[in-house]
Amino acid sequence: MSLDALRQYDRNRWQAAARAVLKDLRTGLFIDGDYCDAAGGGRIVSINPANGEAVGEFASAGTEDVDRAVRSARKAFLSGTWSRRAPRERMEVMYRWREQIGQHAEELAALETLDMGKPVRDVVAGDLPAVMETIQFMAECIDKIEGSVTSTASDVMHFVMREPLGVVGAISPWNYPMLMGVWKVAPALAAGNCVVLKPAEQAPASCLKLAELFVEAGGPPGVFNVVNGIGEVAGRALALHGDVAKISFTGSTEVGKLMLVYAGQSNMKRVALECGGKSPHIFLADTPDLQRAAAVACSGIYCNMGEMCNAGSRLLVAAEIHDEFVERFAAESRRAYLPGDPLDPATRLGPLVTREAQQRVLGLIDSGRRQGAKVMFGGDTPGQFAAGAYVNPTLFTDVRNDMTIAREEIFGPVASVIRFRDLDEALRLANDTIYGLAAGIWTTDLNKAHRAIRELEAGLVYVNCYDEGDMTQPFGGYKQSGNARDKCFDSVLSYTQQKSAWIRLSEAH
Ligand code: NAD
Repeated sequence: MSLDALRQYDRNRWQAAARAVLKDLRTGLFIDGDYCDAAGGGRIVSINPANGEAVGEFASAGTEDVDRAVRSARKAFLSGTWSRRAPRERMEVMYRWREQIGQHAEELAALETLDMGKPVRDVVAGDLPAVMETIQFMAECIDKIEGSVTSTASDVMHFVMREPLGVVGAISPWNYPMLMGVWKVAPALAAGNCVVLKPAEQAPASCLKLAELFVEAGGPPGVFNVVNGIGEVAGRALALHGDVAKISFTGSTEVGKLMLVYAGQSNMKRVALECGGKSPHIFLADTPDLQRAAAVACSGIYCNMGEMCNAGSRLLVAAEIHDEFVERFAAESRRAYLPGDPLDPATRLGPLVTREAQQRVLGLIDSGRRQGAKVMFGGDTPGQFAAGAYVNPTLFTDVRNDMTIAREEIFGPVASVIRFRDLDEALRLANDTIYGLAAGIWTTDLNKAHRAIRELEAGLVYVNCYDEGDMTQPFGGYKQSGNARDKCFDSVLSYTQQKSAWIRLSEAH
């Protein structure tokens, strides 16, 4: 089923697709090319956050299962079945994998929506094309990985080559289950590694399917394994494992810090971290096209229910345009972000991922009220969706940058407007955070834009737009947002290590 065909589906069609995937749901671990149960028989139930019903009971890996998956990956790596296979042949497998994903797009989209509540229109328009593009891009990188020959005396030959690391452990979050998995797995595979992926326990279904499709595309068993399970058990066991050469983590800053501890407690494995954010989105008095700016500000925080690492959650707005901006933002929110059934393609705002996430977000909203911020709209749950984990889009004004809602990552549809007087103050407020993932600035003044690009402490800076980019863009943060870069050719190189070969020749030439 092509993505174009899926764009024509109505709600009934998606509900039928959802019923069909639940009938055939595979819930095991995926190790050595096939599904299996957890050795200890552990299971975790994944809940559909739109209605509180169970999606499925998934096997939950223990330490023994993680060890089995790592051993399978290590065996596959040492056999050379993937790591030493001709680049063109590996590229062919990756291209076929991409095709398989396209052919199973209906199933993958339904799974993603059921498991984490993401509006199906976003999966079809955003996540799935991005997953396929990532695999395509990373496959194209395979035969571009090069070494070098350095300048030496003529009786010596010295070359530097890049080799894969071995077994890569990937730990991913639930907010874009497939895409965050593929941002790690695809470059690691492209560089010739074997992978064990631990997806988030809240939404493991689509990642399992991706591994199954990799094998169907001709990927050798053991090269891509998936161990669903609880973070503190399966994730910890993977990050502590002595045969894992690198842990590539996307998730909260708090858990990211644990990865560094686990590496130090075990084999000093490499640690790549993509963590949280509290990104400033700045609107100067000379913002071009305030209507478009307000609409982009809205999608920058309410898209994916605000469950985005680079969400523009702090709206820094110049005093001169503050009232008009807030008015236009509110109108856009009412127009575009009404809560609805995520299986209805008209819906752009589904539930949060779990009841716990909903309660956490409502708690932070309460703290905003208590600390004196003003709720312009939202701040509550939609009564007609009481069975789901919904939170209405919320806008706070009169926010100070030292309030909890301006400091903590809320990871929900909650925006805070902070007023400023001039660019100096805007940049100071923007950088007054422990995070540094993304930042946006709107202005018609090229000099101001350049100054902001230089002074904003963030890995991603957007000018007169927000959350745009393509596969060439290094995606990652400054400060406590992490130390790695996903996407881009450099991400493939980050899954390689350099080997230097120094050859003494018998005579000078
Ligand atoms: P999380 O940190 O709770 O969990 C992430 C992963 O770590 C999950 O697979 C979880 O099971 C695992 N985990 C949890 N505790 C663990 C432990 N003790 N040992 C090993 N593994 C453990 O994050 P989340 O709630 O799934 O995701 C939301 C977070 O992810 C947000 O902070 C968001 O900003 C961040 N994120 C960052 C990026 C980025 O590119 N920078 C992208 C997406 C999400």
